[in-house]
Amino acid sequence: MARVTVGGEQLADFASTGTDQHVMLYFYPPDVRLPEPLTLETARQQMSSIRPIMRSYTVRRHDPVSHEIDIDFVLHSHRGPAADWAARAKPGDELIFVGPSPAYQPEPAADWQLLIGDESALPAIGAILEELPAGARARAYVEIEDAGERQVLASQADTEITWVRRDRGESLERVVRADGLPTGSVHAWVAGERQAVRALRGYLLTECGLDRHRVRPTTYWKDGTSHAG
Ligand SMILES: Cc1cc2nc3c(=O)[nH]c(=O)nc-3n(C[C@H](O)[C@H](O)[C@H](O)COP(=O)(O)OP(=O)(O)OC[C@H]3O[C@@H](n4cnc5c(N)ncnc54)[C@H](O)[C@@H]3O)c2cc1C
Repeated sequence: MARVTVGGEQLADFASTGTDQHVMLYFYPPDVRLPEPLTLETARQQMSSIRPIMRSYTVRRHDPVSHEIDIDFVLHSHRGPAADWAARAKPGDELIFVGPSPAYQPEPAADWQLLIGDESALPAIGAILEELPAGARARAYVEIEDAGERQVLASQADTEITWVRRDRGESLERVVRADGLPTGSVHAWVAGERQAVRALRGYLLTECGLDRHRVRPTTYWKDGTSHAG
C-alpha cells in the first residue's frame, strides 16, 4: 500500500461527503495537450478525442484546513495505470481527479456495522470506522496479503477487527462464514474483488436472511480485467 498526499489550493472547495467517499482519477497519455483551464466541463468536451483512463479511489483522509487529501493505493502485482502511477509518484507530481462522490451512511439504529473487504477497501473501512460515534459497534474483516499489511484503525466505536491473511490460506468468505453474524440487527458494507463480493452478498442475503437494504455490496475490482471507467 502506498499513501499519497495530494494538496493545493484547488482543494480549497473540496466538499467532503465522509465515510467511503471516492474520487475518479483521470490518467492521460503523457504527450496529450490538455485543455486550459482543465475543468470537468472542458475535460468532458474532449472526451470523444482524448479519453483518459479512469479509476476510482477512496479519500482516506481529508484535511479542509491544509487542503489535503490522502489516497491509499494498493500496489498490486498486476500494475495497472493507477497502481503504476502510485508506485512511481514523487513530490510535485500532479494528479487529476473529479469528485468526491456521495458516500455510505451507516444506519445509526443498527446494533452492528459489519464491514468486509480486501485491501482495496481498507481505506474505506478505515474512514467509515473513524466516523462511527461512541456507542456504535462494528465488526470489520479485512483481507490482506500478510501481517505486514495490517494498519491501526482508529474509532470511537467498539470495534472488532479481523485480519484475514492470504499467506495463511485464509479468505474473506470462509472466515466470515465461520464466525457467523453477531447477534442483533446488522448492517453490512462489502467491497473488493467481484467474485468475493458476490459470494459474500449471497451469503448475507440468502443464508443469513439480511434485508436487501441492509447490505451494501460494491465491486472495487475484477480479477483479470482492467477496470473500465
Ligand atoms: C468506489 C471505489 C473505491 C476504491 N478505492 C480504492 C482505494 O482506496 N485503494 C485502492 O487501492 N483501490 C481502490 N479501488 C479499487 C481500484 O479502483 C481498482 O483496484 C483499480 O482496478 C486499480 O486500477 P489499476 O489501474 O491499478 O489496475 P487495472 O488496470 O484496473 O487492472 C490491471 C490488472 O490488475 C488487477 N487488479 C486491479 N486491482 C487489483 C487489486 N486491488 N489487487 C489485485 N489485483 C488487482 C486487475 O484484475 C487487472 O488484471 C476502489 C474502487 C472503487 C470502485
